[in-house]
Amino acid sequence: TAVVIDGKLMADEIRSVIADEVSRMKSAIGKVPRLAVILVGERKDSQTYVRNKIKACQEVGIMSVMTELPEDCAESEVLNAVSSFNENPAVHGILVQLPLPQHMDEEKILNVVSLEKDVDGFHPLNIGNLAMTGREPLFIPCTPKACIELLLRSNVEIMGKKAVVIGRSNIVGLPTSLLLQRHHATVSVVHAFTKNPEEITREADIVVSAAGVANLVRGNWLKPGAIVIDVGTNPVKDPDSEYGYSLTGDVCYEEAVKVASAITPVPGGVGPMTIAMLLSNTLDSAKRAYRFT
Ligand code: NAD
Repeated sequence: TAVVIDGKLMADEIRSVIADEVSRMKSAIGKVPRLAVILVGERKDSQTYVRNKIKACQEVGIMSVMTELPEDCAESEVLNAVSSFNENPAVHGILVQLPLPQHMDEEKILNVVSLEKDVDGFHPLNIGNLAMTGREPLFIPCTPKACIELLLRSNVEIMGKKAVVIGRSNIVGLPTSLLLQRHHATVSVVHAFTKNPEEITREADIVVSAAGVANLVRGNWLKPGAIVIDVGTNPVKDPDSEYGYSLTGDVCYEEAVKVASAITPVPGGVGPMTIAMLLSNTLDSAKRAYRFT
């Protein structure tokens, strides 16, 4: 059976290094990194994500500031919130929690986030630089970076391997496929229009699934010995849980664990590592702003 990749444990190790770096920065120059979060509307899942990110900041000594706006606010209010954080030199990272309400132009809003503070890595120039050989993005999106970090910390060689990414969203699938290519994998992308996704997936040494479909990837989709990174966090009804639902991955875990050589659990895999990458991006940004090495 597969080795379980303990994302929580690996993330804790990274967070402890970040905490040390933050305190080193504070004693050396009297400054700490600061993350600004903009939350629009009352989506429960978004509120939970934001709360977790802010708590994680606190635990490593990163300051945070949050702007909450009502669901029906004008787009200009969000743009103003972004602009004021852009201009504030004590803010090093700006995160606009997605999804935004329907009536807002997400592209327009993400475009105004200062490149130097784009700790989510969603600015088109950061994505563009990620896509181009020889260029360096200032920030790499947190979830894709988390997937690679989990592979590297599990001593998985990426170079020359066949990787399949399931999903091609701007925030997960697409940048993950770009990042795997930067690490010299041969990458195929499977999406909702792909015919015979199981055949393509079965060729892969490394499978990253970010489709948002519970139990999509069955055991017979996997090549024996494959490494499986499950990004999916899909709510499924669970009467035993406090909230009436629990989270499950894209991968049918009970089947996959018998075929794969390593696999991330949900929860406890990609999720905690994603938050660690956000903290890491925010620390890097503050270091860059203060020229602190
Ligand atoms: P999305 O809905 O924007 O994109 C889904 C992608 O999967 C699309 O490109 C679509 O073509 C593809 N897809 C959908 N159904 C498919 C199918 N049956 N077969 C193959 N491909 C299919 O979703 P997203 O924002 O990229 O998120 C994907 C999943 O990852 C969700 O479950 C989300 O909750 C989770 N997520 C987790 C983290 C984390 O930190 N763990 C972060 C972000 C997203």
